[in-house]
Amino acid sequence: MPTTARTLSSPPSLPRGGLRITALGGLGEIGRNMTVFEHAGKLLIVDCGVLFPEEHQPGIDVILPDFTSIRHRLGDIVGIVLTHGHEDHIGGVPYLLKERPDIPVIGSQLTLAFITAKLSEHRITPSTVHVEAGDRHQAGPFECEFVAVNHSIPDGLAVAIRTDAGLVLHTGDFKMDQFPLDERITDLRHFARLGEEGVDVFLTDSTNAEVPGFTTSERELTPAIDQVFATAPRRIIVSSFASHVHRIQQVLDAAHAHGRKVAFVGRSMVKNMGIAAELGYLKIPRGLVVDFKKLQSMPDAKVALICTGSQGEPLAALSRMAAQTHQIRLTEGDTVLLASSLIPGNENAIYGIINKLTDLGVKVVHKGNAKVHVSGHASAGELVYCYNIVKPTHVMPVHGESKHLHANAELAIRTGVDPERVLIARDGTTIDLVNGKARISGQVEAGLVYVDGHTVGKVTEETLVERRLLQEGGVVTVVAIVDADTNALAEPLEFIAKGFVHEKHIFDGAAAKVKHALAKPATAKIDDLDKLESIIADTVTRHLDRAYRRAPLVTVVVIDA
Ligand SMILES: [Zn+2]
Repeated sequence: MPTTARTLSSPPSLPRGGLRITALGGLGEIGRNMTVFEHAGKLLIVDCGVLFPEEHQPGIDVILPDFTSIRHRLGDIVGIVLTHGHEDHIGGVPYLLKERPDIPVIGSQLTLAFITAKLSEHRITPSTVHVEAGDRHQAGPFECEFVAVNHSIPDGLAVAIRTDAGLVLHTGDFKMDQFPLDERITDLRHFARLGEEGVDVFLTDSTNAEVPGFTTSERELTPAIDQVFATAPRRIIVSSFASHVHRIQQVLDAAHAHGRKVAFVGRSMVKNMGIAAELGYLKIPRGLVVDFKKLQSMPDAKVALICTGSQGEPLAALSRMAAQTHQIRLTEGDTVLLASSLIPGNENAIYGIINKLTDLGVKVVHKGNAKVHVSGHASAGELVYCYNIVKPTHVMPVHGESKHLHANAELAIRTGVDPERVLIARDGTTIDLVNGKARISGQVEAGLVYVDGHTVGKVTEETLVERRLLQEGGVVTVVAIVDADTNALAEPLEFIAKGFVHEKHIFDGAAAKVKHALAKPATAKIDDLDKLESIIADTVTRHLDRAYRRAPLVTVVVIDA
């Protein structure tokens, strides 16, 4: 059995010469990846991403890592290393830089281009450090060495971090496609050299640890994508993440081969593809890409659209298209190519959208009915190769829900890593590497920080409970006119319901119960309106639940008679 973090108290101060590793996100969830390394009084951050909300988090735009544990030490941060340009690795950077704008941002060319563009929207000009595979960069007491890794976005890097405490290797997101479109494979020879030197802690991507075998090569999607372009009778609408440069390259190639013009739709798609093309990561045949407006006057059989939602999430645009509220109005004979993964937690939503699109007469091609998507992450077979090549002393699975972390831990153990040295942490768990031995030392605050419009961290779990109640049960507002001296009701209660369907008599029993509750001697002296309101709200809530099994959100307004 691997060593698993249980409920822990805050860690003791880090022993001299030790290295502390704390993931503030990405453990127990797919997204908002962020790991903090502490050594000799300084902090190095690897990635700072966002998590996209699920159905039970209505109204939330994105979810951030919790910066509470580093907020009082912002001055000690010597850099943020970004392993690659996906939202779940860079999306939180603007929020961290708002707290201290001059933290050096370290990454590859494409990653820095994506984050710089994102930061400009937040009116932040970052201080960047451009590194490439093979480079070494000293950030305070941390010597970072970068290793090429292959992923679903170009220019990914793993990072090896050397300190007096030892050598740590963090894979970032990666897979081992041996025939990638950009011919940049994960540099296993580099992994092996680091392994020879002795990797004390190996942090590895767990996303696909449960998937047996090897992740299919990106190249194997070509026939299915080509087939769509060869046979679609009318428009083709491709829905993809705005960062999926390789996949979009394949779509562009197919469109070019079949004589279709292409337009990018959606702010982040237009922006990111512009950057990728300018830097040479995306090769666009001359004249292929045209403006969306120009495309509208062309014959349907000659056009293709590549789109996302405004945040770069494909689901948003697609759901609006299915609801016929998107500027692209889909009609019978159109084809939608869903060239992205289904984010865990969103499966039901996406199947709902596919059904709606089908009802519109649209043909939907997705990973469930054609080979149009492969994962960007290493499967079990690739992970065990890595363990056997690196031969780490300790393993810390990262990037995944609990089941993924445990599956990855099992793989490490099967390759011979001592089970006691396979450490399954949770967000906020601190792992200390001291004298060559890593162990779980405590827990820091690492809750979910919700972004809703311009508010950050203002929406709480309580807010979400209220929103879910509203969503599921509607709202009942009780207006109570109360005699201030006796707490008795001066007038009959008034009930106003929204989204709560009911017979008129349903509130009669509630009114009687409130009258009774207010008459109790214990409540006789209450002069606090808030307390009165909560007594009435609790009484009405309990009555509706017990008598009718209904659970609206009950709000109360008490008026002094
Ligand atoms: Zn990624």
